[in-house]
Amino acid sequence: MLGSNIFTGPPDVSIELSPGCIFCSIAEGRTPCYKIYEDNDYLAFLDIHPFVMGHSLVIPRKHYDALPDMEETAVGELFTVAARVSSRVTRGMSADGFRLIQNNGEAAAQVVKHVHIHIVPMKLEDKDRRFGRLSPTDKEFREVADAIIRHS
Ligand code: AMP
Repeated sequence: MLGSNIFTGPPDVSIELSPGCIFCSIAEGRTPCYKIYEDNDYLAFLDIHPFVMGHSLVIPRKHYDALPDMEETAVGELFTVAARVSSRVTRGMSADGFRLIQNNGEAAAQVVKHVHIHIVPMKLEDKDRRFGRLSPTDKEFREVADAIIRHS
């Protein structure tokens, strides 16, 4: 079982990375993350400034700026992983549903230019609420990651 706040494994040299990209750095294991899922090609970790506790990101290890740059098979795989991880996040956070958010381009408020899907677990009582950004402690991040990983 994965622990939280751990480094990803060494990079697979066959995977294309983009210098200076924070998510490539996470995928390479050079920048730490609160990892909740990984396989050879995809990785999921907690968003560092979450809308709600459990807000997670799913990324391909290979660098693509945005969704239109991906091969169609990779798009399918990315969303398959997002669906799988969403179920775990929802169960782990005792949520009632989840939102997937996927921003492409500056006009859509894409800040990190490495394609990613946001998973935002939702509770019924919060369905009409507007969300700001949270700043959880390291302990809180670890507890959230552990709760999600327990539902893997
Ligand atoms: P977007 O606006 O779709 O590009 O969102 C990028 C997301 O990445 C934001 O929600 C950030 O809080 C998140 N983020 C940026 N850097 C990190 C990081 N090092 N670890 C985890 N999440 C990050």
